[in-house]
Amino acid sequence: MEERNIRFNTKAIHGGQKPDEAYGAVMPPIYQTSTFAQSTPGGHKGYGYSRSANPTRTALEKALASVENGNHGLAFASGLAALDAVIKLLAPGDEVISGNDIYGGSYRLFNRVFANFGIVFRFVDMQNSKEITDRITKKTKLIWVETPTNPLMNIIDIGMVSQIAKQHGMLLAVDSTFATPYLQRPLELGADIVMHSATKYLGGHSDVVAGALVVRDAGLAEKLRFIQNSTGAICGPMDSFLVLRGIKTLHVRMQRHCENGSAIASFLKAHPRVEKVYWPGFEDFPNHAIAKRQMKAFGGMVSFVPKVGNAAQSIGILEQLEIFTLAESLGGVESLAGHPASMAHASIPKAKRDKIGVVDTLIRLSVGIEDKEDLIADLERAML
Ligand SMILES: *Cc1c(COP(=O)(O)O)cnc(C)c1O
Repeated sequence: MEERNIRFNTKAIHGGQKPDEAYGAVMPPIYQTSTFAQSTPGGHKGYGYSRSANPTRTALEKALASVENGNHGLAFASGLAALDAVIKLLAPGDEVISGNDIYGGSYRLFNRVFANFGIVFRFVDMQNSKEITDRITKKTKLIWVETPTNPLMNIIDIGMVSQIAKQHGMLLAVDSTFATPYLQRPLELGADIVMHSATKYLGGHSDVVAGALVVRDAGLAEKLRFIQNSTGAICGPMDSFLVLRGIKTLHVRMQRHCENGSAIASFLKAHPRVEKVYWPGFEDFPNHAIAKRQMKAFGGMVSFVPKVGNAAQSIGILEQLEIFTLAESLGGVESLAGHPASMAHASIPKAKRDKIGVVDTLIRLSVGIEDKEDLIADLERAML
């Protein structure tokens, strides 16, 4: 059947996949090998060395391309390795316009690593098109968007930014980790590159660190594949297998993440000890209309500010939780809770954090797929 004509849930399971050629294995074997026998120099069956390509990774890369409705997938050792490859498309002197409330590790890679190589980053409020256009110069080559953002769930209008990028001949890359291809497909909205931390929802079981890029353009894919092979931060065969297995249940998990996320967000919003809840599904949430247009539903990530006096009291709530595990990361089947100011966003200076709203009392929840009644009871008890 023509790949383009099958629906998302079918793609999640079958997209780009076929039984293994050797014995018909339904799941691609974990080709745990560094190298492949050659009959004569260069005479191999499509695979010469596993940094360049590995059949298990190819299976994952095809699945990634399929679920994002792209043409080419690339799997990396981590989300940040995928981002690293995107920035390596640039040269010293080139400029990047990035959202100002992106994942802390992305910010660190931009500001503490690539800035040293002469790449210039301008951080803006991506919700405001004028802020973007004001920062464009002849040297601007790339716009980096994360949506929804981590941890404040700001929604960036991908179509709007894509128009700006196209007008000025710049690339648009979107970190779509929070949304997953089940909820949002940036390539369909005009992005050139979509990036994922596959560690999160794509893997889905908190058992692997991996990253992904998907593009449509063959020339861009070739450049990225060259960088992937030249720098070597590839996704290994075992990790590729795990992410591929995760993708097969992505749609089912996401339905429950969304259902539970909605229930928890509403519970928190009604709670007398909660000051503010960040969840794009609320009708009065800024840019809710854009979220509704570009996403299928609103996801399982919920951040909130409890009515407490200081960070220690917020941390006190986190320490009381029993079903939610206090941990970094997100997107697994189990519910996790974190304290952005001292965990994922600690690499962003406090003044900058306060300015964008990542206050010291903020709590971030990755709502899992347990029974929502138990999750609510856990939060209720911890907040007493
Ligand atoms: C986790 C995360 C990353 C980094 O991915 P790793 O797999 O940890 O390298 C990038 N962006 C977002 C939105 C993330 O949540």
